[in-house]
Amino acid sequence: MIPRRAFLIETMALALAPGCMAAPSSSAGHLLLSGSLQQGSLVIGRTQPHAHVLVNDTPVLVSAGGIFALGLQYDQKRATELAVQYADGATETRSVQPVPRTYEIQKINGLPEKFVSPPPDIQKRIDDENVRIAKAREVNSPGTAFSEPFDWPTTGVISSVFGSQRILNGIPKAPHFGVDIAAPEGTPIHAPADATVSLAEPDFYLTGGTTVLDHGHGVCTMYIHQSMLKVIAGRAVKRGDIIGLVGMKGRATGPHLHWGMNWFQMKLDPSLSTRTPAPAKA
Ligand SMILES: [Zn+2]
Repeated sequence: MIPRRAFLIETMALALAPGCMAAPSSSAGHLLLSGSLQQGSLVIGRTQPHAHVLVNDTPVLVSAGGIFALGLQYDQKRATELAVQYADGATETRSVQPVPRTYEIQKINGLPEKFVSPPPDIQKRIDDENVRIAKAREVNSPGTAFSEPFDWPTTGVISSVFGSQRILNGIPKAPHFGVDIAAPEGTPIHAPADATVSLAEPDFYLTGGTTVLDHGHGVCTMYIHQSMLKVIAGRAVKRGDIIGLVGMKGRATGPHLHWGMNWFQMKLDPSLSTRTPAPAKA
C-alpha cells in the first residue's frame, strides 16, 4: 500500500500588521515553504530574490525568483533550521520539524546470492559504480524544475514503498530508498519534470540500466533496472519525454522501475512530490 498522501502544506509567516512594524524588518515575512514536510520529503522554499538562505548553517542556492530546495532525512527527528537574510538586511529564521513516519518491514527471498552477498572482485565494481552515482548527485545547477509537482514516470502498480526495512534472503540490509513501480518489461519511462541527464549507464551491476536526472539545486531523480536507455548524459529533457524502458537488469526479482529522489546525497521519497498519489495503471 502507498502511504496516505499528504497534500501540500503551505506555511507563511504573516506580515506584521501596520502600526507594529519593528524596523528594519521590512522584508521579513516573505518565507513560504511547500512540500509534505514528512520525514523523507523534498521541501520547496520561496522567498525574495537576492535573499541569502542557510539550511542548518550551510548556504544553499537561491534562484533569481527566490526559490530554493532542501530535504528532510527519512529518519530525521530534530528540526532543520532555516535562516534567511534579505537584501535590505532584515533576517528571518524558521524551524522545520519533520512529521514522523513509520516504515514497513519487507522480506524478499529467492534473490540470487551473487546479488545479496557479492564476491569481493564484484564488490570493487559496485563501489566504483556507486561513486559514479554519488558524483551525479553532487550537481548543483541553477534550474528550478524541482519546484513544480512531479509526474509519475511510468504506469503500473507500486510494489515497494520508500523506507521499507529490507531483509534479503534472511539478511537485514539498508532500507529501500525509492518507490518500485511494477510494469511489464519495455514499458516507457518518462521524465517526471524538466531535467538534464547527469548519468546514463546501460549496465551497472546492482542497478542495471541506470539514469540520473538533475532537476536543479541538488534535486535529482534516479531510474534503475532499465532494460534500455533512451537518453545520454548531458542531454536536456522535457517533462514527459521518454528516457528509457522498464526492465529487470541488476538486483531485481521481476520487471519494475525503481524510482529514487535525492537532495544531494540525502535520499528522499519521490511519492511525496508527485501531482497524484499513485501512478496510472497500465
Ligand atoms: Zn526498488
